[in-house]
Amino acid sequence: MTAISSASAAFTGEDPGNRLFGPVPDVTGDRGYADDHPARVGFFTDTSVCIGCKACEVACKEWNLLPMDDAKGTVDALGLTGASYDNTGMLGANSWRHVAFVEQSRAVDLPMPTVGLPGADGGQRPLEDPPVVHPGVPASATTAEQTDPQRTSSGDREIRWLMSSDVCKHCTHAACLDVCPTGSLFRTEFGTVVVQEDICNGCGYCVPACPYGVIDQRQDDGRVFKCTLCYDRLTDGLQPACASACPTESIQFGDLDALQARADERLAALQTKGVEGARLYGRDETDGVGGAGAFFLLLDEPEVYGLPPDPVVTTRDLPAMWRSVGAGAAMVVGLVASAFVGRRR
Ligand code: SF4
Ligand code: SF4
Ligand code: SF4
Repeated sequence: MTAISSASAAFTGEDPGNRLFGPVPDVTGDRGYADDHPARVGFFTDTSVCIGCKACEVACKEWNLLPMDDAKGTVDALGLTGASYDNTGMLGANSWRHVAFVEQSRAVDLPMPTVGLPGADGGQRPLEDPPVVHPGVPASATTAEQTDPQRTSSGDREIRWLMSSDVCKHCTHAACLDVCPTGSLFRTEFGTVVVQEDICNGCGYCVPACPYGVIDQRQDDGRVFKCTLCYDRLTDGLQPACASACPTESIQFGDLDALQARADERLAALQTKGVEGARLYGRDETDGVGGAGAFFLLLDEPEVYGLPPDPVVTTRDLPAMWRSVGAGAAMVVGLVASAFVGRRR
C-alpha cells in the first residue's frame, strides 16, 4: 500500500511542499527573474460599470490583428449568434476578450442600466394592468409589488443586463504553462502568462489544462492563442489596448497590489449601498489557482457569467500522482526482486 491516498494532504491541496498550488507571494521571482523585476501587473474588471459597448473586444482585435470569425472559430464568417447581443459567444483563438451579456428578469434599482416594458405611459407599464401571476405569489396579494416580483417600488417592471468583459486570468498557478512541452507558454517579467506563436507546435495540451476554458487552438494549424495582456505594449510602457479603450473604466490595469486594494474598497462601497450579490472573483490568493492576475467584481454568482465557481489548477495533483506512481513502481521492483532471490535459494 502506498503512503498517499486520495484523502491525504497531497490530494487535498494542503501539501505545503506542492509548488503547483497555493499562494505565491512573488510569482515572477518564483520563475527565476532577478529581484529587481517589475511589479506584477493585472486587470481589475469592475462589471458593475460595464455598459457592453464592446470597445475592449474591438481594440483587442485591432491591436493584435485578430481575424473576424464566428463563435466556432471559422475565420471570415459573419459572427452573429442570432440569439443575443453577445455575438462573440465565448473566448477563443481569435477572440481574446469576450463581453458576456446576461439578461435577468428581476427587480433591480442599481447599479445596472434598466428598461421598462413598452406601454402607454412613455414606456412604463401602467399600474392598473392585469397582474401577472407568478409561482409563489400569495392569493391575498393585491398591490403591484405583491403580485409581480418584477415590479420595483416605483411600479416599473424591469429587467437588468449583466455585462462582463472576460479575458485570460493570468493565473498565479497557470496549468497551461505547466503542461506546455515546448516552452511556448511562459511567465513574463510582469507576472503575466504569454504564448509565443512561433514556438507553439499545436499539441494542444494546454487547452484542457486551463480550468477556465480560455486558451484555444486555431482551426488551420492547431496553434493556440489567448490574451497576452498586451506584452508588446507593456514592454513599451503602454497600457493594454482594451483598458485604454474602455470608456467607463470597467477594465482597470495596473500593479496587482494596488488593483486588489481598489477592488476591496469598491466592493465595500457597493455593499454599503446595499447592492445585492456583489463579490470579487479571482481576488483570493488562497483559491484553487492561487489568485488571478485578472480578477473581477461580479454582481451575481460566477456561473451566471459562465465562469467556473471554484476553479482549481489542473496540475495540482501531479506531484502526488508521480509520488504514487513511484511508490507503486518501487513495490513492483521489490516484489520481482524478492521472487528472484527466493527462487535462487
Ligand atoms: S486562465 Fe487558462 S490560459 Fe489563462 S493563465 Fe490561467 S490556465 Fe492559462
Ligand atoms: S490585454 Fe491586450 S491581448 Fe489581452 S485582451 Fe486586452 S487588448 Fe487583448
Ligand atoms: S469592459 Fe468597457 S469597453 Fe468593454 S464592453 Fe464593458 S464598458 Fe465597453
